[in-house]
Amino acid sequence: MFNKVLIANRGEIAIRVMRACRELNIKSVAVYSDADKNSLFTRYADESHPLGGSTPSESYLRVDKIIDIAEKSGAEAIHPGYGFLAENPKLGMECEKHGIKLIGPKSSVIEAMGDKIRARKLMKKAKVPVVPGTIEGVKDAEKAIKIAEEIGYPVMVKASAGGGGIGMRTVYEEDELVRAIESTQSVASSAFGDSTVYIEKYLEKPRHIEFQVLADEHGNIIHLNERECSIQRRHQKLIEEAPSPIMTPELRERMAAAAVRAAKHIGYTNAGTVEFLYSNGDFYFLEMNTRVQVEHPITEVITGVDIVKEQIRIAAGEELSYSQDEISIRGHAIECRINAEDPLSDFKPTPGRITGYRSPGGIGVRVDSGVYMNYEIPSYYDSMISKLIVWGRDRAEAIERMKRALAEYIILGVKTTIPFHKAIMRNEAFNRGELHTHFVDHHRKQIE
Ligand code: ADP
Repeated sequence: MFNKVLIANRGEIAIRVMRACRELNIKSVAVYSDADKNSLFTRYADESHPLGGSTPSESYLRVDKIIDIAEKSGAEAIHPGYGFLAENPKLGMECEKHGIKLIGPKSSVIEAMGDKIRARKLMKKAKVPVVPGTIEGVKDAEKAIKIAEEIGYPVMVKASAGGGGIGMRTVYEEDELVRAIESTQSVASSAFGDSTVYIEKYLEKPRHIEFQVLADEHGNIIHLNERECSIQRRHQKLIEEAPSPIMTPELRERMAAAAVRAAKHIGYTNAGTVEFLYSNGDFYFLEMNTRVQVEHPITEVITGVDIVKEQIRIAAGEELSYSQDEISIRGHAIECRINAEDPLSDFKPTPGRITGYRSPGGIGVRVDSGVYMNYEIPSYYDSMISKLIVWGRDRAEAIERMKRALAEYIILGVKTTIPFHKAIMRNEAFNRGELHTHFVDHHRKQIE
């Protein structure tokens, strides 16, 4: 096992990883930007080192500085968390050069899955259903029109390098297609440095259902069942739950088998998530995330598996601590992402000082957060400040518990998404489990 691990991230996920390190008796090394010098994670770590600068490109994206600090502090491994460098193959490559272990899959696998076209091709080979559409980049307008006609409108133009909900446009008719291709190309080129786009069928009211997989470096691979993440805004998740309210043993078996087949086919190791869109009884591969996900705690809550500890163990060369038979689901979990955003003002970020803070507690409540009383939320990073996770013996109890926990959660000084979550928990369609990825838009009036 490692003696020291560097966490190349900030906020709640940095603390989450450090907690796993502490339970494994591993010393943790934090790196932080100027804007984060008073952040909780810098104090939670056994040692903390400045990266300088405040923008991500000056700080958390600086592979050179992070490797340098890892070497100087004697860290044997780096955990990238999610976001920042987590899906950048460059970090893995540099780690390999410097004899540092990256806690994640091989950089070649990260690279392959980061390219959505390549991922679609690989999945087709693995006999995992993908969303109908092209498996080549589309450049030529005439060809694109022909392809879209074959697929049938509406279609989606997607950047092959896209991520974080950026680089996708829905197209309802032919007139809009060429312009959508051009604009997606230009967004993709400036956001990801790669203008390649492809076309796939736009599913009208799909559910987002994903499977957590764990694979060690000895060929063992298991799945930890599904999470449903259909409550989204602008293709970004806001609420996740596990298990999915529509899951049946038969569907779970088929989807889990596809997820495991996908991971096996690409030689996946460590923790990963295979995302699917589900619509009218069919499911389609969307993408694979080659890192720990924001919403991993709900799976931990219903299975009892510490996913981050498993990640570290796997990276240290150990075998999985569980066989598939040992994984079962107990009850129901829900996560609400608490963002410093004003839900009544188009979810505009609300950085600033937290002037009053009390987090909820009691039975079945878990809060993974990086903030505290008097903390100043910086404007440079993602606006998620906390994750509120609850467990209930069934979905109905989990919803009641979430309502109770949201009512207990006090954050003063900045507007947050807490009122939005309260409205969703009260929503009748949500309570009936009638979810789809446009739920938030669809129920806007009742939610506001
Ligand atoms: P990103 O990598 O940017 O997160 P994804 O491909 O994972 O993008 O898609 C994010 C979300 O966008 C999905 O959960 C879904 O809501 C929506 N989406 C993506 N592709 C489609 C599609 N073909 N049809 C309908 N919705 C889609």
